[in-house]
Amino acid sequence: MTAKGKIIIIVAPSGTGKSTLIKQLKEEFRELHWSVSFTTRPVRPGEVDGKHYFFISKEEFLKKKNQGDFIEWAEVHGNYYGTSLGFVESKINHGFSILFDLDVQGADNMKKHFGDEAHVIFIAPPSLAELEKRLRDRGTETEDVIQVRLSNAKSEIQRKDDYDYCVINDELEHAYVDLKKIVKGLLEN
Ligand code: ADP
Ligand code: 5GP
Repeated sequence: MTAKGKIIIIVAPSGTGKSTLIKQLKEEFRELHWSVSFTTRPVRPGEVDGKHYFFISKEEFLKKKNQGDFIEWAEVHGNYYGTSLGFVESKINHGFSILFDLDVQGADNMKKHFGDEAHVIFIAPPSLAELEKRLRDRGTETEDVIQVRLSNAKSEIQRKDDYDYCVINDELEHAYVDLKKIVKGLLEN
């Protein structure tokens, strides 16, 4: 029988550097599959439907939710996001490990559904001031959106020790080395 794939979830307040670190992980660990979530948020420049997310309308999202298509779903910063149950089960049952980018609600719900099979890594910013700087410098959000994300970050950071692992993204290279060690260990066990 094929061994089940691993469920590896990365959680971080928006602006911490999660996408940057995940990009490096995807380049290095080619065997990791990517969980493509469904979302109602608008497409950002450079994003591809079906690759970064499945971009759907609010009506379509609610229909899927009511059909029980999602393991977990959440409203994050005013948009809906959901993880497809069928997608995840078919991957792990075929032995493929999956990398997830979720918010704290998503990670909590994945833990509820999969228990110890779900491995959660929290990425924390070195400080709130640095987080604010990164969000502003990225320049992808309006001021209103930045304020919502910073306010959410304050409560999310308090959860940093609630998960299986915590990596501080101060110096990017150091954070990546720490993260890589954790992922390598999970994939080898
Ligand atoms: P997230 O996916 O967590 O919202 P991003 O990966 O988009 O965050 O990173 C937010 C911004 O911070 C980007 O402009 C990115 O280049 C920058 N960044 C990421 N990690 C670091 C770091 N360790 N030091 C300084 N800037 C960083
Ligand atoms: P972004 O809009 O910046 O891509 O993502 C915003 C937030 O939504 C991030 O914290 C990301 O982790 C979270 N997110 C993305 N997909 C899902 C999902 O399927 N479920 C949940 N709960 N959160 C998600």
